[in-house]
Amino acid sequence: MPDYDTARERFSWQEARAELAGLPGGGLNIAHEAVDRHAAGPGADVVALRFLGKRGEVREITYAELKRETDRFANVLQTLGVERGERVFALSGRVPELYVAALGTLKHGSVFSPLFSAFGPEPIEQRLRLGDARVLVTTPALYRRKVAQLRERLPGLAHVLLVGEEAEIADIPGVEDFRRLMGLADDSYEIVATAAEDMALLHFTSGTTGMPKGATHVHEAVVAHRATGRIVLDLHPEDVFWCTADPGWVTGTSYGIIAPLTLGVTAVVDEAEFDADRWYGILQDQGVTVWYTAPTALRMLMRIGAEVAHEYDLSALRFIASVGEPLNPEVVVWGEEAFGMAVHDNWWQTETGGIMIANYRAMEVRPGSMGRPLPGIEAAVARRDAEGGPALRGDGGLELTESPEEPGELVLRPGWPSMFRGYLGEEERYRRCFAGGWYLTGDLVRRDAEGYFWFVGRGDDVIKAAGHLIGPFEVESTLLEHAAVAEAAVIGMPDQVAGESVKAFVALKPGHEPDEELRRELLGFARRKLGPAVAPREIEFVAGVPRNRSGKIMRRLLKARELGLPEGDVSTLEGGS
Ligand code: AMP
Repeated sequence: MPDYDTARERFSWQEARAELAGLPGGGLNIAHEAVDRHAAGPGADVVALRFLGKRGEVREITYAELKRETDRFANVLQTLGVERGERVFALSGRVPELYVAALGTLKHGSVFSPLFSAFGPEPIEQRLRLGDARVLVTTPALYRRKVAQLRERLPGLAHVLLVGEEAEIADIPGVEDFRRLMGLADDSYEIVATAAEDMALLHFTSGTTGMPKGATHVHEAVVAHRATGRIVLDLHPEDVFWCTADPGWVTGTSYGIIAPLTLGVTAVVDEAEFDADRWYGILQDQGVTVWYTAPTALRMLMRIGAEVAHEYDLSALRFIASVGEPLNPEVVVWGEEAFGMAVHDNWWQTETGGIMIANYRAMEVRPGSMGRPLPGIEAAVARRDAEGGPALRGDGGLELTESPEEPGELVLRPGWPSMFRGYLGEEERYRRCFAGGWYLTGDLVRRDAEGYFWFVGRGDDVIKAAGHLIGPFEVESTLLEHAAVAEAAVIGMPDQVAGESVKAFVALKPGHEPDEELRRELLGFARRKLGPAVAPREIEFVAGVPRNRSGKIMRRLLKARELGLPEGDVSTLEGGS
C-alpha cells in the first residue's frame, strides 16, 4: 500500500477479482486459487504448508503435493457419494489432514465447516445438527470422547473418517479410515465448476440469545481473503507466514489456510498449544517474516517480559498483526520494546469473513485503535435507540454519529465479497443484521477526527474469552440440564490475560445445598459437556437471577453489580419500580 488515502481511492473489488485466476472452464473456486493455481506454475515446488508436530516432527507439503492430496480427498468424497453443497465437518487439532480435508472439500463443491477440537459434546452436537453434517473428519480419541455418544441422534451423519492408527480405527464401529480411503483414491481430480456465489464455508458463531448461528460464506470470499492478505498482512511470495489461530475459528481458516495460500507464501502451522519458549523458537527457527496472532497470546508473552524475546534471533520478522479481541495500547508499546516494531491491530468477525478495519504497514499506528477501514469498505458509526437497536431517521436510513468521538454501533455498507450470505436456516436472524442499508456489527466503537476506529465494547452480551466468542445462552442451557439447577445466568468478567472469563450465577432447586461440593460438581459438569474453551471458570450461587418483565435475563445488570458500575435503567426489572 503506497499511502492509505491513495490506496482507498485506487482500490476496487472488480480489480481485486481480476487478479484471481478463475477456473479454467469458468467459475470460481477457493481451492483452485489457493492450490492448483500455484501447482501449475513456477510456485509448484514452494512449500505451501510447514507443519510442526507436537513432538518436534516437521512435515512440509509443497503446492504440487497439496494439489495431489486435496485432489485425493475430493475423490474420496465423490466415492462416498457426498453431494455438492453438502457439509463436511472437521473436528481435529492442527494436523495436515485437516488442511487437506478443507481444501479437498472445496474442490469437490461441498461445504467445509471446521469445529474447534476443545469443544465438548454439546457444542459439537449443536453444530453438527444445525449444519446438517454429512461427513465428519476427526481422530479416534476425539471420536470416542465426544462424538460416538451423539451418533444415533445424528442420522444424517453418513460418514465419519478417522485420522489415526489403522488398528485402532478398525476396532471402532461405524467409522472409516481417512488414510486408507486416501490411499485408494486417485490423486487427480477436476475441480467442480463452482460459481462465485456457491456456498463454500460454514462458520458457527454465537449471539446473545438462542443457539449458535451458522454463517455461510461463498467462493467469492476468496477475493477478500487474497486482497486483505496483501493489503493488511503485506504478504509476498517469499514470506514465511504464521497465523496462530486454530482453523476451528474463522481466523484460522480465512488467514490460517486461504489467504496465505492464495498469495503463494509458505504458511507455518503449529500443532501444539501456546508455550512462550516454543513460540519464540518457532519465530526464530522458521524464519517467520509475518506473524498474525491474538491479544491473549501477546499478553501472555508480555507477562514473562521483553528480555525473553531478546534471547532469540527474530531478525526475519518484519510485520506483526493481531485480531480477535481488544488489543491494549500497552501491548502495542510492549511489542515495540520486544520486537522492535508495532503490533498492528485489526478488526473483523465471522460474518465479515475477512479483515474490515486495520492498521496498515504504511500508516502510523495509534496504540489502542483498530485502525481505518479497508480500501473498498465503507464503515460508519450509528446511533442506537433506547432499546439498543439502531436509531432510524424518518426516511428509514440510519442515524449516523456526526461528531468524532461519539460512540455508537459499528456499521458496514454491505457488498464486499467475503460477507456472509446468511445464517443457515435462519432467514429472520439474518435479516435483523441489517437496517437502513447497513450491516450492523453488534460492536460499539468511536471514530476519531482522522477516521481511526476505537473499540468501545460489545453491544450485546456475548463473551470473548481468549479470543473465543461464547454465547451466554448456550452455557446457561447446559447448566440448566443439571438436576440441581433452577436458573442460570452467564456473563463475562474482565480477565487480565484472556480479556474476559465466563462466570455463571446459579439459583438452585429446593432441596439442594449451595456448597463447595456442588459448585465443583457443576464446574466439572459444564466442562465435560461444553469443553474447557466454553465452560464457566467461576460459579456463584444466588437466590434468583434478575429478569425483566418479559422474562429476559438482565445480564447487563448482573455485570454492573459485579463490577460496581452504575446499574443503568432498571425500570423493566421484574419486581422493580
Ligand atoms: P468472531 O466472530 O469470533 O471472530 O468474533 C468477532 C468479534 O470479536 C467482534 O465482533 C469483536 O467483538 C471482537 N473483535 C475482533 N477483533 C477485534 C479487535 N481488533 N478489537 C476488539 N474486538 C475485536
